[in-house]
Amino acid sequence: MQKLPDRYILLYMILLARLKLLFIFLVTLFFLNGCATEPYLEVKKEKLSILSTTIMIGDIVSYIGGDKIESNVLISRELDPHSYEFVKGDDEKLLDADLIFYNGLGLEHGGSVRRFLKKSLNSYALGDELSTRNPALLIYLDNVPDPHIWMDVSIWQKVAELITEILIKKDPLHSAYFLERSVDLQKKYAQLHQVVHKKITEIPLKKRYLVTSHDAFNYFARAYFGSDWQKRVLAPEGLAPDGQISLQGLRLIINQMKEHNIQVVFPEAYVSPDPLRKIQESAEFEGLVVKISRDSLYSDSLPEGGDYQGMILYNAGVIHDNLAR
Ligand SMILES: [Zn+2]
Repeated sequence: MQKLPDRYILLYMILLARLKLLFIFLVTLFFLNGCATEPYLEVKKEKLSILSTTIMIGDIVSYIGGDKIESNVLISRELDPHSYEFVKGDDEKLLDADLIFYNGLGLEHGGSVRRFLKKSLNSYALGDELSTRNPALLIYLDNVPDPHIWMDVSIWQKVAELITEILIKKDPLHSAYFLERSVDLQKKYAQLHQVVHKKITEIPLKKRYLVTSHDAFNYFARAYFGSDWQKRVLAPEGLAPDGQISLQGLRLIINQMKEHNIQVVFPEAYVSPDPLRKIQESAEFEGLVVKISRDSLYSDSLPEGGDYQGMILYNAGVIHDNLAR
């Protein structure tokens, strides 16, 4: 057998040694991956990802979380949170969320949303938690809790407090940051509560009546309209807007409008004004003069580009300007 020259043998040995090294490297890599714990496998998210069902909750979350969190809102401002159902793309938002905040108290009652929130382990029903801690905060209509708690700024301040508490539990490293921003926001809410109270109190009692499309302003009325607020707030459509008004409901409202000489009704943004038009027609048929306010109120959403505080202030302004004259 012919002998190979030494340099070929040397090259062969070098190649063998390199292959051996490569083999050891690959085996080590394989075992490292196999045994590695989370930090090696996953690129950990730097920020908490928080999904809020409504834009009002998202407003608090964005303020308190600042640049330490990623804040998303599920239901866009022009859609009705009462009847919202999941659409394509929502699953990604839900899966990506470390925390989900929702209003609860029956607000998000679209079937798919309700079923998901009930099962989800990282979801918080803010209104329900608040009512467990302080049942007196809630308003019930025919034994059903009214979910529109954001309409009373002093209650919404408590929601901000609750969100802060949960954020701190979930991300204690940034607790000082969250707390500082929360104190700042709550101070703003406390001032806003006083400003709205003062503005509404300027409306003479005999004119302080609010007729809107759906029953979204009970908390607003209880907070700012005085102790007899219950008779001062009327809506043809109940707790969720459905564009319907019964003959009996219509009769009841016309009678109260006559009794209290109510001359203005308020449409709501993103809600059909049809029931209000029906009220206006029927009232005029009976000799009353009823104006539909040119400016709509915001009930279950915020104005385009606007925040919660701006919305409440705007609503108070529209109600004041229409009724105080
Ligand atoms: Zn509503």
